[in-house]
Amino acid sequence: MAVDLTPSPDVAELARRTAEFVREVVIPVEEANDGVARSEEIRAALQSGAKDAGVFAPHVGTEYGGHGLDMRGRAAVFEEAGYSLLGPLALNIAAPDEGNMHMLEAIATGEQKERYLRPLATGDIRSCFAMTEPAPGAGSDPGALTTRATRVPGGWRIDGRKWFITGADGAGFAICMARTSGEPGETGGATMFLVDADNPGMTSVRHIDTLDESLYGGHIELVFDNCVVPDEAVLGEVDEGFRYAQVRLGPARMTHCMRWLGIARRAQDIAVARAAERELFGSRLGELGMVQQLIADSEIDIAACRGLILQACWELDQGRSASQSTSIAKTFCAEAIWRVVDRAVQICGSLGISGDLLLGRFLREVRPFRIYDGPSETHRWAIARRVLRRHDAKAAR
Ligand SMILES: Cc1cc2nc3c(=O)[nH]c(=O)nc-3n(C[C@H](O)[C@H](O)[C@H](O)COP(=O)(O)OP(=O)(O)OC[C@H]3O[C@@H](n4cnc5c(N)ncnc54)[C@H](O)[C@@H]3O)c2cc1C
Repeated sequence: MAVDLTPSPDVAELARRTAEFVREVVIPVEEANDGVARSEEIRAALQSGAKDAGVFAPHVGTEYGGHGLDMRGRAAVFEEAGYSLLGPLALNIAAPDEGNMHMLEAIATGEQKERYLRPLATGDIRSCFAMTEPAPGAGSDPGALTTRATRVPGGWRIDGRKWFITGADGAGFAICMARTSGEPGETGGATMFLVDADNPGMTSVRHIDTLDESLYGGHIELVFDNCVVPDEAVLGEVDEGFRYAQVRLGPARMTHCMRWLGIARRAQDIAVARAAERELFGSRLGELGMVQQLIADSEIDIAACRGLILQACWELDQGRSASQSTSIAKTFCAEAIWRVVDRAVQICGSLGISGDLLLGRFLREVRPFRIYDGPSETHRWAIARRVLRRHDAKAAR
């Protein structure tokens, strides 16, 4: 079936305005702050700039003040926002809020949408998504989930420990995945809970020191100890948490790819500018064959990432699960984006290693992407299993 990948005129115009806003407003802030927004003032100023420029919250529905873009529309706009480390925060499309908004829009009740989605969509509050646990709990294998939610009169009591919870410091609420039935190692039995930040049963234990710094609100270890929530805190149906997680994870994988593709393009632009100017061995750097190979390979990686993202987004827009195509795109993009940034560092030589360019920061920021949203090995394992199942089904016919 033919797939039309051209953005509509409205989306193309929004992408153009996003690129202009990022270039004129966001990049100066990014460069002055080493790519990291370390205060609420910076976040508020960037978001108010995006509102003024008419590019804020492109992903959420118009009833929540957004532009209601489908996944293919997001691909065009998010890549432009991702051209700066701070672009996604400015547009309110950074992880984990963007993925949480997507999920709340899809499965929250009307009351939950008013209470959590609306202030999230306007940027008045932030959120986090608490799934991963220290070993032996949930990580690459979500079925290892150990955090428990036990029935109490009128609600649930959550007990457990989560870590690497991005954005938890200062978040207005957490979406916590807890086991409501079954045992660790079993695939079903999880439920999602909306936990307000002021719940005395949820405490932040520490900021985990990590390679990356640009995701706002840090990566936090959270303890749930006698954390009581009412029945209304259940997001979706009890015991259906793993199914709902897929509503979030497939699209969230793709939006991560879109944003990081913007950084890959930026790294390539920096490297190409250097290769065009720097004179070496009697010619411009960019005229030396091995540097041309680095530039060409990055161009190929960037084009391939965009194609795989759009293919997966098209499937998601058709209402398909797109589990194979999102796994393929996520694995390829996470590795290709790293390669592009790494080649850019190489082309720029010692300048690429220095703090005079942001390439070193980009490298630190993109490296964890090969681990979160499913490590490359987990995706390759899942991709291969689906291929074998397809083979077995054909062979049985
Ligand atoms: C920067 C960052 C931000 C994060 N933010 C969040 C967040 O906001 N919320 C949240 O819930 N979690 C978050 N995470 C956690 C992330 O989702 C997990 O790190 C990820 O799921 C992997 O789990 P793990 O770290 O426990 O690794 P493990 O499950 O211990 O896996 C370790 C390694 O095992 C290998 N492996 C995995 N599966 C297979 C396989 N099938 N075959 C062969 N080898 C395999 C891979 O190399 C993998 O890296 C974040 C992580 C990072 C690094």
